Amino acid sequence: MSEQEFKRALGYATSALDLLKRGSIPPYPQFYELLYTYATGVNPALNSRINSIFRDGAAPTEDLAEKLYNEFLKSQDANDRISSVSQRMQDRIGAVNDAIDTAMATAVSYSGSLQAATGDLEGGLDAAKMREMTIKLLRDTQRMQETNRALEGKLEASREDIAGLQRDLDEVRRESMLDPLTKIFNRKCFDEGLAKALRDAAHDGVPMCLMLVDIDHFKQFNDTYGHQTGDQVLRLVAMTLKSNIKGKDLAARYGGEEFAAILPQTDLEGATIVAENIRRAIQAKELLKRSTSEKLGRITASFGVAMFTASDTSSTIIERADRCLYAAKHAGRNRVITETELAKSETQAA
Ligand code: GH3
Ligand code: MG
Ligand code: MG
Repeated sequence: MSEQEFKRALGYATSALDLLKRGSIPPYPQFYELLYTYATGVNPALNSRINSIFRDGAAPTEDLAEKLYNEFLKSQDANDRISSVSQRMQDRIGAVNDAIDTAMATAVSYSGSLQAATGDLEGGLDAAKMREMTIKLLRDTQRMQETNRALEGKLEASREDIAGLQRDLDEVRRESMLDPLTKIFNRKCFDEGLAKALRDAAHDGVPMCLMLVDIDHFKQFNDTYGHQTGDQVLRLVAMTLKSNIKGKDLAARYGGEEFAAILPQTDLEGATIVAENIRRAIQAKELLKRSTSEKLGRITASFGVAMFTASDTSSTIIERADRCLYAAKHAGRNRVITETELAKSETQAA
């Protein structure tokens, strides 16, 4: 660790401890982690939540810190979170069912009281009996009102809970589609997107292209500068890919240092332009090591582009794009090779 890096980390640590003291939060590792993360500013959603607490003139308390830790930092995989949402949903449905059962039982008993009163009235009542019956009916009506109010309260609470659960589910669904490192779509989402794009292209009879991207000599980069810096580069490439596509296009992390872009309603010529733009944008970025601002030079990537044909399945179009990518590597890297070019060079070689 450089001296500069050490000083920065110490600054974060001091600020985290200050915040713990300010809110009288016990300095347990999870709360320290929470406020250290806040001090670094790497999690904008967490920071904006804590800042809004400060804006209200308060400081995070232990309870709140616990809640924020669970929400922002506790690592839970999508499956755990889905189980937790579904458990809460079940509990909520159970509580509403119980309240409905009670309300129904009260309604049945109330209806019994009314029927009995009707019978009594038809039979004729003296003043004392009439008074007795009115008191009973009043009591039953009050009981009915109370049960209804309780049911209303439970339904209202459920409505809020269910809205919260819905937000959680949306969040889990969104996260389950993203690659955790680069925050662009993951392989699963790519597979689904490709299957859909192929169906649409077949149905609409419009061209569609698949682009595969592989970073050049990335192993060497990792070996030289370390895995963490490598990860930064993966994020940079992912962002470059994402910012150079639009509309219905879908960019995903296909595997380790490989990315893919699905380009619906795009012919080979259009796809080549997109690929060239991305290739140039990646090459143009001068890499700096975050902690030390050390210059790391540049990286490049190779591209293979295939266009949909009527008989294509996911695996056939991927295979063709992959062959183009392999040809781009073979031809010296940092270039885009399309199917047409590949076919041309294969004919020339034959
Ligand atoms: P080529 O130009 O032929 O593609 O060479 P390459 O070194 O990029 O290809 P190779 O397949 O030999 O190595 C891929 C490297 O990508 C291996 C590994 O170090 C790196 N890599 C894969 N996944 C990750 C990751 O999640 N993080 C980091 N930092 N590196 C990764
Ligand atoms: Mg590779
Ligand atoms: Mg590579």
